[in-house]
Amino acid sequence: MSEFDWQDYSQETQAIRAGHKRTHEDEHSIPIFATSSYVFDSAEQAALRFTGKAPGNIYSRFTNPTINAFQERLALMEKGERCLAFSSGMAAIMAVGMALLKAGDHVLCSRSVFGNTVLAFQNFFGKFGVTTDFVNLTDLSAWEAAIKPNTRFLFLETPSNPLIEIADIQALAEMAHRHGCLLVVDNCFCTPILQQPLALGADLVVQSATKFIDGHGRCVGGAVIGSEALIEKDIYPYLRTGGSCMSPFNAWVFLSGLETLGLRMKAHCDNAFALAQWLEAQPSVAKVHYPGLVSHAQHELAKRQQSHFGAVVSFELTGGKEQAWRLIDSTQMLSITANLGDVKTTITHPATTTHGRLSPEARAEAGIKDSLVRISVGLENIDDIKSDLRGL
Ligand SMILES: *Cc1c(COP(=O)(O)O)cnc(C)c1O
Repeated sequence: MSEFDWQDYSQETQAIRAGHKRTHEDEHSIPIFATSSYVFDSAEQAALRFTGKAPGNIYSRFTNPTINAFQERLALMEKGERCLAFSSGMAAIMAVGMALLKAGDHVLCSRSVFGNTVLAFQNFFGKFGVTTDFVNLTDLSAWEAAIKPNTRFLFLETPSNPLIEIADIQALAEMAHRHGCLLVVDNCFCTPILQQPLALGADLVVQSATKFIDGHGRCVGGAVIGSEALIEKDIYPYLRTGGSCMSPFNAWVFLSGLETLGLRMKAHCDNAFALAQWLEAQPSVAKVHYPGLVSHAQHELAKRQQSHFGAVVSFELTGGKEQAWRLIDSTQMLSITANLGDVKTTITHPATTTHGRLSPEARAEAGIKDSLVRISVGLENIDDIKSDLRGL
């Protein structure tokens, strides 16, 4: 079953079986192809491969069987035609910019994106004559008003970090296309298990495989998924020249991550939902940000757009920064780290870590209070997670 069409199979089956082209050794599990280059049968075959007229591997900067397997599997799971793997989530985001942007172009980006994504557009693409404006994620009229004739793409994450706000992907895709631009969605928080932006009209999805796809905090990697046309014409030539490729070892780790991603995401979401409900009932908690709660402003949209509500919960305490730090320091089991998407539950204070480089005014504008705590809910027993927060 080497050249098999997995398109018609369900996502659970694709996650486990798609992508593996079994070799003459009849292996059951996908091997790690630790090779930088490949040999050709003849000078003519080498020439044909270099011109793209014959299929086959040339060099692992742009093709490798282990990485190909990961790409094929993730493309199917995201409902995209093609996927390319990168050395990190940031490398994937840089690839989208490098491939699609030129001097004079404009990017419209959600204000609530990963800090390095802001720096990528503002500081690095800014150096080459690309301008970027930032808008409020959930304000559709603000997006529409900020689109310019030279806007190349809209860029967003949903749910956002750390306030877990939800953007209407379908509405923003329609808006982007009406104005002749593309929609790029960073699908790191949901993974293809909870949401498939390409099926809702987005043109490209970027992933940080470092988070839930690995799920165990071991490897750094990323991916870009989209149509054959966009990936083949724009992103692939950049990967080949830019060189920010994934390592075969990491691809092998991520392949097994994908196999359990569905089960893990469901368990993450069940724990997060239970924790959010419990937090909402605690007297020292002023507000809980979790789209599964009816108190969440985009609860209905989240229900429609996602299959579950996600693994990340944030909440504001009545006692300000002092209480937030005291709570974090009182935990025994939870890991105090800004990372997320791990089987281990992690806790962080966004205002002084992930969002600490913003000015107090910018933080206030983004709604990130000093009393805010963010938890990426892991797979430990929910009662142990709650009892570790007994300092509330
Ligand atoms: C971590 C993260 C990234 C960057 O991914 P790396 O693999 O760390 O480079 C991008 N977007 C989001 C939403 C993230 O959480």
